[in-house]
Amino acid sequence: MSSQSSKKSATAISPTRGENYAEWYQQVVKAADMAENSPVRGCMVIKPWGYSLWENIQRVLDDKFKETGHQNAYFPLFIPLSFLQKEAAHVEGFAKECAVVTHHRLEVGSDGKLIPTGELEEPLIVRPTSETIIGDAFARWVQSYRDLPLLINQWANVVRWEMRTRMFLRTAEFLWQEGHTAHATREEALEETMRMLEVYAEVAEQWMAVPVIKGEKTAGERFPGAEQTFCIEAMMQDRKALQAGTSHFLGQNFAKASEIRFLDSQGEQQYAWTTSWGVSTRLIGGLIMTHADDDGLVLPPKVAPVQVVILPIYRTQDDRSRVLEYCHAVARALRSQRYAERPLSVQVDERDERGGDKVWHWIKKGVPLRVEIGPRDIEKDALLVARRDRAHKDKQAIPRGEFVATVTTILESIQEALFERARSFREQHTRRIDTRQEFYDWFTPERVQDNEPTPIHGGFALAHFSGDVQLEAQIKADLGVTVRCIPQDGSESGICPFTGAPSQQRVVWAKSY
Ligand code: AMP
Repeated sequence: MSSQSSKKSATAISPTRGENYAEWYQQVVKAADMAENSPVRGCMVIKPWGYSLWENIQRVLDDKFKETGHQNAYFPLFIPLSFLQKEAAHVEGFAKECAVVTHHRLEVGSDGKLIPTGELEEPLIVRPTSETIIGDAFARWVQSYRDLPLLINQWANVVRWEMRTRMFLRTAEFLWQEGHTAHATREEALEETMRMLEVYAEVAEQWMAVPVIKGEKTAGERFPGAEQTFCIEAMMQDRKALQAGTSHFLGQNFAKASEIRFLDSQGEQQYAWTTSWGVSTRLIGGLIMTHADDDGLVLPPKVAPVQVVILPIYRTQDDRSRVLEYCHAVARALRSQRYAERPLSVQVDERDERGGDKVWHWIKKGVPLRVEIGPRDIEKDALLVARRDRAHKDKQAIPRGEFVATVTTILESIQEALFERARSFREQHTRRIDTRQEFYDWFTPERVQDNEPTPIHGGFALAHFSGDVQLEAQIKADLGVTVRCIPQDGSESGICPFTGAPSQQRVVWAKSY
């Protein structure tokens, strides 16, 4: 966008969140140059800006996995069909979205077209998740109680043939990590399940500034084959919930299916207890939908690919070299500092573009701090600093020395402000509800014309629930609302507003991605 046109429109992203949230999201991804749709339906190309954000999130997670005793390994992309069949609930859950490889060769037909030939004796599944193939390896690796716990993580891509896709949030192929562990006892496996849920919550809240609710899924939303599924749920700015990560307690289901057995200290054969847990590139979609505004992406400083961008402002060639030299000196001073366990990431934008265009370029990319430096600033030895979490015109002149000395404090204050803003947004749109009527009203949007998008409405409802599966299905059919989770810290006895049955606690109901 040119500076001219940016003056004309009120916001850099059109439509705004309020006008059409779904389209706004696509435009933010595009304007920040994070990703694009690919020729393959439901798949995306992750561009460098999106990928370096993923790398930062990956690094934080990976460090935490290692701190908690896990090791990385890699398993095959292809899973024999027979493996998937070993666990009944698992195959049922994933059968509808599996990509299957049936041939291993191509031949040129008489019309010049390529034809798959060489049919495989046993078709291969492109992994939708790796419990079965990793279980097969674990069965060989685990012999005695001395081999436990076995704590493995894999960074990989997986394929789930999703019908309704949206960049980052739900794609047919996505990048993720999947942790797989085996333990000698139920208690240890449960402890691991909860430990990794904590790790996810910590990374979401403290690094991505995304507030989450930790809880357990109801039976209907459980991972196929799991005994219990725990999750972190976040509220997006259209007030829908996003399941941002899951940690599963698999009991002995997969150990029995894959024959993961060990000799215990008494010399008895036992089945192991296993867990699995994963987060994906969906986290990036969640981050965008939590923080971005009508001018584009807003990045939390701790995971931002670039934390400070310096924009040299000059007219003449003479000024250019003087200004650039000064900018690079400031950049060097900044890079010698550390924030969020890495040296500050600072970029000097030397591109031959107009000043206003450069400003908007970085606003739309969400860089936390913009620093403008021109000949007059150099004379005063002061910099013009703008925070991405505030209005773009809100610039502050800060003496160079002071800026260099306080930059990490400023970044931390942006990080905290983003978290606080998201937390108070969630609070504002969460309601304790005790009657059926209020519940239905809360989730029913105002009427609009047929061709208009549904207005943003509702939010999270905290309502009592007795665990009635049919009721949950009915509410889903009526309103498109489901139990997002049974929060961890929520015991409070009461009465289900729908059935009058006694309930042990309120659960989080919401529309979701
Ligand atoms: P699951 O193995 O189903 O528990 O999924 C693990 C994590 O992967 C979930 O918490 C989601 O955040 C994420 N996920 C699941 N399906 C998709 C998808 N189609 N695209 C992106 N992320 C996904």
